[in-house]
Amino acid sequence: MTESLSLLDSFTLIWPKIFISDFLRYTIPASGAFLWIVMRGRKTWAHRRIRNKTPTTTQMKREIRVSVVTVLIFSLNGFGVFLGAQIGIYQIYDDFALYGLGYFAFSLILLTIAHDTYFYWAHRLMHVPRLFPWFHRTHHKSHNPTPWTAYAFDPLEAMVQAAFLPLFLLFAPLHGLAIFIFLVHMILRNVLGHLGYEIMPRGMAHHPILSALTTATHHDQHHANGKYNFGLYFTWWDRLMGTESPKYRTRFVQITSAAPHAKQQLIPSAKGGCN
Ligand SMILES: [Zn+2]
Ligand SMILES: [Zn+2]
Repeated sequence: MTESLSLLDSFTLIWPKIFISDFLRYTIPASGAFLWIVMRGRKTWAHRRIRNKTPTTTQMKREIRVSVVTVLIFSLNGFGVFLGAQIGIYQIYDDFALYGLGYFAFSLILLTIAHDTYFYWAHRLMHVPRLFPWFHRTHHKSHNPTPWTAYAFDPLEAMVQAAFLPLFLLFAPLHGLAIFIFLVHMILRNVLGHLGYEIMPRGMAHHPILSALTTATHHDQHHANGKYNFGLYFTWWDRLMGTESPKYRTRFVQITSAAPHAKQQLIPSAKGGCN
C-alpha cells in the first residue's frame, strides 16, 4: 500500500515535469524552424527550397496532433527511466568526478553512434511491408515533410524510438547532462531533416568528413521514395548497406548551387513514398 502510494506520488510529482520538458523539446525547435520558414525561408532561402509544393495546414495540424501522442509516450518512457534509476537498474549520475570528463565525452559519442545504428535498423525493419502499416505509415503520410513531421509517429513507432535510451542504460551509466545533450541533438537533427530547405553548405555531400552527416535533402528523398536514405545522423549505414539514393549527391549539388533569387528547379511532391 505504502509502495503503491509512493509510486503514485512520484508519478504525479515527476511525470508532469517530464511531459512538459518533452513537449517543449518538440515544440520549441519545430515552431522555431516553422517560424524561420515563414519569416525568412520562403523569401531569402527560396532558392534552397527542396519541393515546389507548400505543405497544407491540414497536414501540419495532423502532424502536431499525432506528435502530442508521441510526447505522451516519450514522457511515460521517461518516467520509466526515472523509476529504473530510482531502484538501481539504471545509473544516471550527476557528479562528473565519478567517471571523469573522458568517459562523459566517450559516452556521448557512443550514445549517438549507437542510436544512429539502432535507428537505421529499426527504421529498415519498420519498412517491411507487413510491419509498415502498424509502425510507420503515419510518418510517411507526410510525403512533403515539415518541421512538425519530426515526431509524427504511429504509437508503436514512438515506443520503438523511446526504447533506445532505457536499453542503452542497461549497459552503460550516463551523466544527466549527456542525456540532455543527446535528446536536444536528436530533436534538432530530426527537425533539420524535415525542414524542407537545404541550409547546409555547398560541397558538403562530397566532403570527405562532412558527407558522413545526413541533410534535409537526404531525408527528403526518404519521404519521396521509401527505398532509400534510412539514416538519422550519419550516412554510414546507408552507404554500407547500399541504401543511399544514387541521386542524393547530384540533387544536393543542384539545390545548393542555385544562386539566391534564381528560379530553383524543384522536384514535384512525390506520391506514395513507401514500399
Ligand atoms: Zn521523416
Ligand atoms: Zn521511413
